Amino acid sequence: MKRVGVLSLQGDFAAHGAALARAGAEPVYIREREQFRAIDGLVIPGGESTTMLKLLHQDGLMDALAEFGRHKPVFGTCAGAILMATEVWNPAQESLALMDIAVERNAYGRQIDSRVTVLDPEPEFQRRTAPGELEAVFIRAPVIRRVNGGGKVLARYRGDPVLVEQGRHLVATFHPELTADSRVHALFLEKL
Ligand code: GLN
Repeated sequence: MKRVGVLSLQGDFAAHGAALARAGAEPVYIREREQFRAIDGLVIPGGESTTMLKLLHQDGLMDALAEFGRHKPVFGTCAGAILMATEVWNPAQESLALMDIAVERNAYGRQIDSRVTVLDPEPEFQRRTAPGELEAVFIRAPVIRRVNGGGKVLARYRGDPVLVEQGRHLVATFHPELTADSRVHALFLEKL
């Protein structure tokens, strides 16, 4: 069984662990740098990216995480997607630059701080997983403003990319760990 790390400093790591288990992988809750050696891929969960950054530095995990991402697949959701981007604003903050995307934090504004909606994912997503619409939960989500060379958009919401793949990495601005549909996690497991 594939062993997949879930960065567990802050945020909804437990829900990702459960979603990975449903998709057929063994979750490993990552809190120390030594643990990176034991995993095939990593999920960076949603939460608060500024707090997660602070804890990553405090616990000495920042360089281990960046190094892991240079060789192995990483899947970031919401705050995790913000940490993986090349460019972050509103406000600007440090990031790992694992995905060549630009994100604006909290960009959907107050009225849709949080919402559940149904996406019509790209045919490629449906072909590689299974056909059908995709339920998506957004919680103070960032907007992906730019996807640079090599990035592939697998789903959009109101025209903006919300699920993007680039090489071995994947980001979602919504929370696939909060719905019963395992296809997004299954797609990530295909990359390991
Ligand atoms: N708004 C959060 C941030 O900027 C992300 C929200 C989430 O992960 N659900 O880090």
